Amino acid sequence: MREFVRPKVVVSKCLEFDHCRYNGDMISSPIVAKLKEHVDFVPVCAEVEIGLGIPRSPVRIILDNGEHRLVQPVSGKDVTEDMKAFCTKFLDSVGEVDGFILKFRSPSCGFKDIKVYPSIGKSGAIEKTSGYFGGAVLKKYPFLPVEDEGRLKNSRIKEHFLTKLFVLAAFRKVKSEGSMKDLVRFHTDNKYLLMAYSQAELRKLGAIVANKEKNL
Ligand code: SF4
Repeated sequence: MREFVRPKVVVSKCLEFDHCRYNGDMISSPIVAKLKEHVDFVPVCAEVEIGLGIPRSPVRIILDNGEHRLVQPVSGKDVTEDMKAFCTKFLDSVGEVDGFILKFRSPSCGFKDIKVYPSIGKSGAIEKTSGYFGGAVLKKYPFLPVEDEGRLKNSRIKEHFLTKLFVLAAFRKVKSEGSMKDLVRFHTDNKYLLMAYSQAELRKLGAIVANKEKNL
């Protein structure tokens, strides 16, 4: 049986790793629990990292003079700049990763459909956007598998996510070893999978692999 390379995956820490939600809860996520055996997780909680503490009052994204801000309505704190600084620092220092599993509906971790409110007062959402950390992840890693635990309950989305995750982890190993022989092996192992996704791209990759005089 083929041995799979262990992917390195950044995960929202409240998913199976820590009681770090605003109310001290941890969220159960069957896919994160199952993957612990096969994946090297890097758990992180952006809200704790910027010093909001546990428990804490929830934060939300509001529209303020045409600009999105991340605020804590109860305290009136605006933590937008702290959150942006954390996202940059963390993503610049985390090293090479193969994917992300993020908490959905969070104004920090969610990567899509996060509610934006017109003010800090009680009101309905007026639009949707990315959370701060989730949005920064999408911007920095547009080609990596990035999903939330809500979407990963869909078996088709889960299959695509896991396929991409494990193939990219295998490719990361090939790149780090730097030999054409390993690249040829990678291509052979994944030929039919690549063909199923795109025959045109497979031909381009085949031409690269065939050019054995070149180094990796
Ligand atoms: S969603 Fe993100 S910021 Fe919120 S508790 Fe979970 S890990 Fe922390």
